[in-house]
Amino acid sequence: MSFSAKALREDFPILGRSVRGKPLVYLDSAATSQRPKQVVDAIVSFYENHNANIHRGVHALAEEAEALVEASRAKTARFIGAPDPETIVFTRNTTESINLVAQGWGRKHLETGDEILLTELEHHSNLVPWQRLAAETGAELRFVPVTDDGVVTLDAARAAMGPCTKMFAFTAMSNSLGTVLPVKELIALAHEKGALALVDGAQWVPHRKTDVRAWDADFLAFSPHKMLGPTGLGILYGKSRLLESMDPILTGGGMIQEVFYDRATYASPPHRFEAGTPHLAGAAAFGAAIDYLEAAGMDAIHAHESALVAKALEVLHAESEVVVLGPKDASLRGGVVSFNIADLHPHDVGQVFDMEGVAVRVGHHCCQPLMRKLGVGGTARASFYLYNTLEDVEALARGLKKVKKFFKVGEPAKVTQRG
Ligand code: PMP
Repeated sequence: MSFSAKALREDFPILGRSVRGKPLVYLDSAATSQRPKQVVDAIVSFYENHNANIHRGVHALAEEAEALVEASRAKTARFIGAPDPETIVFTRNTTESINLVAQGWGRKHLETGDEILLTELEHHSNLVPWQRLAAETGAELRFVPVTDDGVVTLDAARAAMGPCTKMFAFTAMSNSLGTVLPVKELIALAHEKGALALVDGAQWVPHRKTDVRAWDADFLAFSPHKMLGPTGLGILYGKSRLLESMDPILTGGGMIQEVFYDRATYASPPHRFEAGTPHLAGAAAFGAAIDYLEAAGMDAIHAHESALVAKALEVLHAESEVVVLGPKDASLRGGVVSFNIADLHPHDVGQVFDMEGVAVRVGHHCCQPLMRKLGVGGTARASFYLYNTLEDVEALARGLKKVKKFFKVGEPAKVTQRG
């Protein structure tokens, strides 16, 4: 069946509700997506039919619960082109996945004189964990500079990399500007220098076909809640030999091989990194999210989002007081559009959009250093997903006009006559 956002919307009851007396227009999927009823049903079904703790339970329910969780792990592996399910670690979110690599790999393998390379685009979740690791190990943080349009070029990355670079951690797509990075080429550059590459896929994996083997990524972190799945679940993919070499950051039940009163040995990955009772219902239901995305088709989702973004850019560029941030070249953009209107505060802009039922995100988008570099306090951000339609872009256009009218943007200042 061909892709139809309108037909898909039937599966998302929340998209049928109204907000402040207007139909909801949800343009905030980069923060978290909505979930179709197939995923909500899978969560309910887990609790209603299969709920039990895993880890060597011998009763039927425990076996069913474990089978569901492991089936999702296998599906996740297949979805991102990973060679086997053991390379998939369930965490709580992208943030925890990156912290796991920074602490579990970095503390063991980095020392004074080593360099960790990031880009200036990074979300705080792919920055602060490395800052902490640098402080702990004596390693140095370096940054690939971005152009004024928020683009990371291969030349800039090459110039920033040196013989001491041990880890290059970068986002595949910027959550604040929408920039798409040349992932495969950046990973190849890192490998040429003998460094590892971690890809923050939080904004990529939900929207584009992902193949970690074609990329040759060493690590990939992403969040199911941004791709129709449950909150409270994160994914870390890592090459087997790297996961094998890592220490856990949480210890306790579920991650051990053998325990004595004075010491313990640890299980093999991925269980070594999954101490305690995981988000079982979430992990089980994530499989339903993957099924949904695959049925829609990742290429069709990408094409649909590109069309919406092209239209949104047209609408934004039509207003002279609107400044669009990020790449001018549409082929370097994903489904995120960041903008400011004259010198209005993004929070004021967001509030007027909200009065129209249009949900956009405003602020620094967890990228404070980037906002500082670009000389803005923040932006308004519209982000698109498979269930958005051209009507949603029209609502964005109406919202823009409303903001301008509300704050009298572009109107000549009134001249008051003095007597
Ligand atoms: N990296 C990027 C690029 C993101 O967009 C986000 C979420 N905004 C994160 C990391 C953090 O994801 P989470 O909050 O699920 O840990």
